[in-house]
Order: sequence, then C-alpha cells, then structure tokens
Amino acid sequence: MRVLLTGGSGFIAAHVLDYLIQRGFSVVTTVRSSAKADKIRAAYPTVGTDRLDFAIVEDIAREDAFDDALTSFTPPFEAVIHTASPFHFNVTDVQRDLLDPAIKGTTGLFRSIIKNAPTVKHVVITSSFASIVNPFKGSWPEHTYTEEDWNPVTLQQASESIPNGYRASKTFAERAAWEFVQPQQQQKKVSSSPASSFSLTTFCPPMVFGPVMSHNLSSLDNLNTSNQIIRDLIQGKYKDDKMIPENATFTWVDVRDLALCHVLALEKPDEAANQRFLVAAGYFCNRELVEIIRKEHNGLRDQLPAESSPGGGYPEAGLYKIDNSKVTKMLGFSWRKFVDTVTDTVDSLQKVSNIM
Ligand code: NDP
Repeated sequence: MRVLLTGGSGFIAAHVLDYLIQRGFSVVTTVRSSAKADKIRAAYPTVGTDRLDFAIVEDIAREDAFDDALTSFTPPFEAVIHTASPFHFNVTDVQRDLLDPAIKGTTGLFRSIIKNAPTVKHVVITSSFASIVNPFKGSWPEHTYTEEDWNPVTLQQASESIPNGYRASKTFAERAAWEFVQPQQQQKKVSSSPASSFSLTTFCPPMVFGPVMSHNLSSLDNLNTSNQIIRDLIQGKYKDDKMIPENATFTWVDVRDLALCHVLALEKPDEAANQRFLVAAGYFCNRELVEIIRKEHNGLRDQLPAESSPGGGYPEAGLYKIDNSKVTKMLGFSWRKFVDTVTDTVDSLQKVSNIM
C-alpha cells in the first residue's frame, strides 16, 4: 500500500515510518527541508525510492500546501497518516504558531486529498488526549475519560495561555477533521459512489515517551517536547531543587505502541475506519519517573532530585481514570510497561548525547 506520511522528521512519525517500512508499505513522507529528507534517507540505506521517498512541505498552514506532495508520485496514494502539527511552547502568537498549522494543516490536507487524490481511502490523524481532557476540571477523580469526551476549550480561552492554545489547536483540528469527513460519509451512503471519499481514524495519546531516532535529532536541545522531562532529569536540571516537578499530565503511552496503532489502522480498516481512539497505557507521576531512573540507571543518581525531595506525586484528592479498552480490543496488543519505556528512553538519550 502506498502511504503519504506527513511530518516524517517528528518524534512519533519517525517510529510510524519505521513500522511502515518494516511492514512492507511504500511511503512518501513530507519534511520541511531537503536536509531533513537526506538524514532520514541515510538511516535507510538499503530501501529504494520506490519504498521511501520525500516531498518538501515547508509550512502545512499554507494554502494548497499538500497539492504537490499528493500529485507528484506514482503509484497513487491509498492512505495518508497525518502527524505534522506543532507541539512546542515556543510560541509568540497562538493563532499563527499553533492554531493555524494544526487546523489549516488538517483541513487543507483533506481538501487537497479530495481535489488531487481520489484513490486515498483512509486517513489517520495523530490527535491528542489534549482534545479529550477537560483541563478546567483539574484532576476530576470521579470521572473516567473515554472517546466520548471532548475538551470544551473555546477560542477565547485558547488565546489566554500557551498550554490552552496547544490543547485548543488539537481539539479544533480534530473536530474539523470529523466535521469534514461526516458529510462525505453521508453522501457516500446516499449515492453509493466511492468517489472522493475516505474514512478517518484519530488517535488521542497523552504524554508520549520512548526512544528517539537519532537521525532526526541534531542536539538534545532540539528534543521533542514530551521527552524533555526525562532529558531535564538526567541532565541534572532539578537536582538542586527542593521539589520534584509536578506533572501536567498523568497518563502516558510508549511511542512504539502508538506508532504501531497508526499502522494497524491501515492494516485493519474494518476495525479502525471512522473510529476515535484514546491511546493510553497507564498512569504515571514524576516521582515514579525519578525513582525508575534512580533504580535502573545507577550512574545518573547524582543528577536526580534527592530521595527525600517532596513533590511530583499524584493529586491528593485522587485522579481521573482513563478507559483504553476500545483501542486495546480493536487493535489487540499489550502495552509496554512504564519502567521499560523510561529505561529505553534514557538509553536512547544517552546514546544520542554520546554521538553528538
Ligand atoms: P514533533 O515536534 O517531534 O513533530 C512534529 C512534526 O510536525 C515535525 O515533523 C515538525 O516539523 C512538523 N511540523 C510542525 N509544524 C509544522 C508546520 N507548520 N509545517 C510543516 N511541518 C510542521 O512532535 P511529536 O512527534 O511529539 O508530535 C507529533 C504529533 O503527535 C503532533 O500532532 C502532536 O500534537 C501529537 N501528539 C504528541 C504527543 C507527545 O506527547 N509527543 C501527545 C499527543 C499528541 P519540524 O520538526 O521540521 O518543525
């Protein structure tokens, strides 16, 4: 199957790409520069351009950003996996830096598929737990989050803080995706015409941890956002602090499990088509993170906050629950354990910093 993967230089996309290649797909991935394409290409020296090729899309927010990517390759695409979206807090203008690329990147991609690539039958989007969680309810111990939940954030609230802006970017983009696809699905039912119609799967992961692909990383300073807490801990950022930093999010998933979900969605279209999945492996707090690093990576003990440091635990009032039964059942595999994910992440960060 021929797949367009957007944002191939990203942390999660690198693992999606790896599974796609391993499992026999033919992939074109979009990156923002030919230098980024060259680095990925160098990591797959034995894979030909028929299995791995690149399209440059400098800014997904631009009008018609994906037109060339969708029209310049043969054979035509049958599926699209859309991971590209800003996930960082280096933001001066929430609308321009977060909302526009997330929302216009998604709706522009969809319009471009309809216009240019009628052979695309399935689109998978990396959405986020940010589009599910209700941040205004805090730790909400009496609630269990499922795929039915939607973040109620408004445009006004999006502009009030950068974290709100990020969560809104994912919420509005995912809503726009479902709104775009639903009329198409209705039309397909009525006319029984398959023309210009694709099904949608969205994955909503919370904090994604896991090993980084070193070819995508020029420095640990450029590390993806979600792994930064692990980098900061092992680099000693909090060793002299009196407190372990508090969590912003208490649920997590391993990047390799999440990436495999994206690929399984293409391999199991009957289970995944037109489904939204909350993809979480379990709960964690930063105190547990510190203790795993202390236990499993003896040489890093001096970099960590002292064992007696307070903070970094679960909320005293209790924590919301998450229900991951839908994805576990539909896609059918067991989740990696937190200790293994943290250990593999630390190993990979150490490897990258030794290489650099
Ligand atoms: P990365 O920052 O590693 O990857 C983001 C990718 O999007 C990069 O390839 C980046 O390109 C590309 N991108 C961002 N903005 C633009 C733009 N305007 N034009 C073109 N390309 C752009 O983040 P992750 O891999 O962690 O995130 C991937 C997806 O997963 C995002 O949609 C994110 O919201 C979602 N997600 C991530 C979670 C996590 O914990 N990591 C949790 C939940 C959801 P470049 O690097 O060249 O800027």
